[in-house]
Amino acid sequence: MSRLIISNILFIILILIPSNIFSWGFKAHKDINNAAVFTLPKAMFGFYKKNIDEITERAVNADKRRYAIAEEGCRHYLDADQYEKSLPLDTIPHNWNDAVKKYTKDTLMAYGILPWYLQLFRGKLIKAFEKKDAFQIIKLSADIGHYAADLHVPLHATKNYNGQLTNQIGIHSLFESRMYELFSLDYNLMTGKAKYIDNINETIWERFSQSVAAVDSVFLLEKLASAKFPNKYVLNSKGTSSEKVYNKEFCKYYNKLLNGMIERRIKSAIDLVGSLWYSCWVDAGQPDLQNLKFELPENNDDDKNIFQKIFDRSKMLGRDDE
Ligand SMILES: [Zn+2]
Repeated sequence: MSRLIISNILFIILILIPSNIFSWGFKAHKDINNAAVFTLPKAMFGFYKKNIDEITERAVNADKRRYAIAEEGCRHYLDADQYEKSLPLDTIPHNWNDAVKKYTKDTLMAYGILPWYLQLFRGKLIKAFEKKDAFQIIKLSADIGHYAADLHVPLHATKNYNGQLTNQIGIHSLFESRMYELFSLDYNLMTGKAKYIDNINETIWERFSQSVAAVDSVFLLEKLASAKFPNKYVLNSKGTSSEKVYNKEFCKYYNKLLNGMIERRIKSAIDLVGSLWYSCWVDAGQPDLQNLKFELPENNDDDKNIFQKIFDRSKMLGRDDE
């Protein structure tokens, strides 16, 4: 094969494999969980601050689980455009059982179940607070942080999740990883205090609707930026290998066109995460968390270690790039 063909093949492979195949990228997920701790009222803050490293590290467990459990993948997204062409999302039942009745469970699993899945955590976290089970409180809080953050990514709300339907392949990691890595230092992640949410299920759908509303702009503005920067890639060396990534000038321009969208979505995620933790604690009767100690359970059913091992040596199951 000629060098040109080889380099073209290499180029295609590199573009098809996103530089970071995880939702929001590991860094953003960790930052969101970390920042959410600082939204909490005094009565919760001490316990969460003491365990902030666990909460932060565990922010990405849900993505690691995707390497071990086939059903995990669909919990990270919902292709809203499979069911509804425009907002509001009023024909998709917001209640899981009604949705199963309308679409069947197999269909729902095929196009993603994120908002319904996140709703489940309310009951679980309230129970953990009532039992004062420090391990479960931390584990569930970290997972809530992950799924609530995914809920804020517009590319987790569409079938065209990596631009594969519009010749924009690679946009997924561009939006949620590359751009975050380049510009997050400029973000102000202060969001104010966590708020009590009266109707958690509806709030989850509201935030998801905002992601759906942003989908068109994410694609349209990338097209505009691409028109201005036809050579939008650069080869980044990583140890002994190199990867093709979007170059900084292109990213800067795309970020300017997005006009703060990524920062707003991140802040909204932090606000929702803190508010979900707080609301569950209130609904559990505001238990005293002061003397709770985080300890791994005796049977050690801790997915952090189990999934880390699988993650280190294997391949993601199901649809990638989410
Ligand atoms: Zn995810």
